[in-house]
Amino acid sequence: PNILLILADDLGYGDLSIHGSKPIRTPNIDSIFRKGVQFTQGYVSNSVCAPSRAGLLTGLMGSRFGFERNLTDDPNVGLDTHVKTIPDYLKTANYRTCAIGKWHLGKIEKFHPNNRGFDEFFGFLGGSRTYFCWDSHATRYARKHAGEKKIQYNGKYIKEPEDLYTTDLFTDKTIEFIKRTRNQSPQQPWFVYLAYNAPHGPNEAKPEDLAKVDPAIMKKNRKRGIYCAMVMNLDHNVGRILTYLRETKQLSNTLIVFLSDNGGPLEKNGSYNGPLRGNKGSLWEGGVRVPFAIRWDGHIPAGLKVHQPVWSLDLMPTFLAAAGVKLEQPLKTDGIDLLPYLQQRRQLPERTFFWRRGGKTRLAIRKGPWKLQIYRNREKFKEDPQAAIQKIMLHNIDRDTGEKNDLYPARTEFAHKLKELLEQWEKQMPDPRW
Ligand code: CA
Repeated sequence: PNILLILADDLGYGDLSIHGSKPIRTPNIDSIFRKGVQFTQGYVSNSVCAPSRAGLLTGLMGSRFGFERNLTDDPNVGLDTHVKTIPDYLKTANYRTCAIGKWHLGKIEKFHPNNRGFDEFFGFLGGSRTYFCWDSHATRYARKHAGEKKIQYNGKYIKEPEDLYTTDLFTDKTIEFIKRTRNQSPQQPWFVYLAYNAPHGPNEAKPEDLAKVDPAIMKKNRKRGIYCAMVMNLDHNVGRILTYLRETKQLSNTLIVFLSDNGGPLEKNGSYNGPLRGNKGSLWEGGVRVPFAIRWDGHIPAGLKVHQPVWSLDLMPTFLAAAGVKLEQPLKTDGIDLLPYLQQRRQLPERTFFWRRGGKTRLAIRKGPWKLQIYRNREKFKEDPQAAIQKIMLHNIDRDTGEKNDLYPARTEFAHKLKELLEQWEKQMPDPRW
């Protein structure tokens, strides 16, 4: 099949109509959930942009190669070049591969998408940018960072159109790439990693999208209002791609995934995480649980809801299996191929998930319904890891989605077993590289 991986940026769990949003109507994105499999407990492997993307594209927890934080200004940090990416593997099965939108996995040549498995790259290398034409909006500070913020095609900056809105442009380029690939080599499958920067800040929307927002919301909270418009624009654009795939009869031969790279940062961009506690950057559910669905018409059930946890690292083994990639060695991954479970509507195996971020100050483990979080003091940690523990929290996620009821005091002995598992896992991980 063709594979279309759509990644939203900083989209809140509660900001799709299928997840209960009233002010934001997302019929097109919802259709991926409705006509495919909806994961109600879909996680990412980190709660901020860059390490979450590093996990998504490699099928590995970033902790395995020291990628636990967002990139710094040091140009030498980026996605470890020793680790293989999804498109690296797909190319061995004759896929034509393309990355569109935000990269955020390193700025220098060796980290460039064209050197990480993508035949084509249309987008920007950094972590955020204005949605409108760069040249007419850039401040002096921003111009200094223009290298990573300007839109390029395979390493060459383009002249940004005056009427640019990035979400629209990235959609145009996605359709253009698919069309061109079909014209040039009709038998060749394609893989598009479409990483919209929407609805990450800055909050900027087009007048026609703002007009779709309830004026009462605009009046009460302008930032939230603009955010609503940005997400509805995103939905409109996802709809354009789905329409194009339907009209060209590619839907049954295209595996489509939609997810967000991390939870909503709340006040920062006006997002809303629904019933989940916490936000981007935290290891509460609101940081790591995201809208997540997979659709492949005629190949996986339509309308199936999976309530067991899955995570973005499952996508690599799932894609490689769907693509029939022949591996010389067993795949190194922290995910599993989901297809047999979905196709046969079987229970997923019980797994243990681990997270670490913030310079080893935040850790979490999920096993069965249980999630344990540890907060540590960074300074004390160097001397004595146990003395650095500030807080341990235990929640039953299946019963307590909002993580309101800390069961650590009541179930301390059980919690310590999870803590031990987490510490054993941590011993196997190298230190964060930055
Ligand atoms: Ca993000």
